[in-house]
Amino acid sequence: MKTLTLLVVLLSLSCGPSADIVSKHNVSFYLNEANWTKLQVDLQEDWMIEQLGNLGVAYRREDVEKSMRKTVVFVYDSPIPCYAGLCNGMQNGTKLHVVDRGCPAVSAYTHELMHWLQEDIRGYVDYDHKEIGVWQIADGAPSRSCP
Ligand SMILES: [Zn+2]
Repeated sequence: MKTLTLLVVLLSLSCGPSADIVSKHNVSFYLNEANWTKLQVDLQEDWMIEQLGNLGVAYRREDVEKSMRKTVVFVYDSPIPCYAGLCNGMQNGTKLHVVDRGCPAVSAYTHELMHWLQEDIRGYVDYDHKEIGVWQIADGAPSRSCP
């Protein structure tokens, strides 16, 4: 019995807190106090993936979905320290740090996700946002994805 108890304790310590939302594309969200919903996130992601697919072969659905599965989003209630002082979002590998602006569509979620997709799929770093077509998508949103 002591062994079982120890095993349970070790398992719970190694797993950490579970995400508040896991989107349909398996992105994990830690919301803190934000009121984002799974539906809002799913709508935003579906729209982005569809729009990127329309651009051509650079961001194929299967590649985008594979990259998204590794992604974790941390949501904050105020601007976060970044290379430029304070920012509304920051991408660090698979970890996206995003300030809550009311819902995912008007926050920097898909903007920071786009930085990760560029890096993971194409090995491309575009901090100056030169790949204009993808930034129009990443900073856009379907109208129904925000309350
Ligand atoms: Zn950016």
